Amino acid sequence: MKAVFFDFVGTLITKAGENITHQNIVKEILRRAGRTDLDYVKLWEEYEAESSAMFKELAGKPYVKIKDVDTKAMQKIAKRYGFTLPEDFWKISIAMHERYGELFPEVIETLKTLRRLGLHVGIITDSDNDYIEAHLKALGIYDLFDSITTSEDAGFYKPHERPFRLALEKADVEASEALYVGDNPLKDCVGAKNVGMMSVLFDPEASKREFWKNCDFVISNLSEIIDIVKGLNDG
Ligand code: CA
Repeated sequence: MKAVFFDFVGTLITKAGENITHQNIVKEILRRAGRTDLDYVKLWEEYEAESSAMFKELAGKPYVKIKDVDTKAMQKIAKRYGFTLPEDFWKISIAMHERYGELFPEVIETLKTLRRLGLHVGIITDSDNDYIEAHLKALGIYDLFDSITTSEDAGFYKPHERPFRLALEKADVEASEALYVGDNPLKDCVGAKNVGMMSVLFDPEASKREFWKNCDFVISNLSEIIDIVKGLNDG
């Protein structure tokens, strides 16, 4: 193995932190609109339902700005409850991600160890460029990556092969020399395998057993990647 690529949300940062982030976005929007009478948790749940339905439709499809999809999802909620979305909605969204994003505890040590082993360490993520850059900098891990490949760069969402191929080009490695680590068996494992990369499913709660067959490895802690890489390189 010469390169290890990571998914972002649910792999490097926790879903719990992401939920808190989104709740705080809704809370701030309601504060700005003077509608603190509304239950932000309830509205957050409705927003999540809208946006996840929209993103499900976009899997593998040509890229459209996540900013626009998120804004549209939030606008639906605003319309439903009769308030106006602030013009700087996306700015609020990025600021909240910077503030409430939460790394899994083993991330920094794992990334540093992979780098010490001489591997190319990269990200392949369904993200807008401004979002991922601000977020990684706020988490203090931006400099730990040799490459960052987004759907915005690639022009397609995972599991389309383009983001994976572009990342391999950036790292200048063959697919057979690369590992992809993600928490979504269908987008991450299938996407990686379609281009010939090995896939690692990060499934800390072992809640995705029915899909494990789509992945080459399953781990419950990111630090396990070190032994996987060493095992593949010694074998
Ligand atoms: Ca993910």
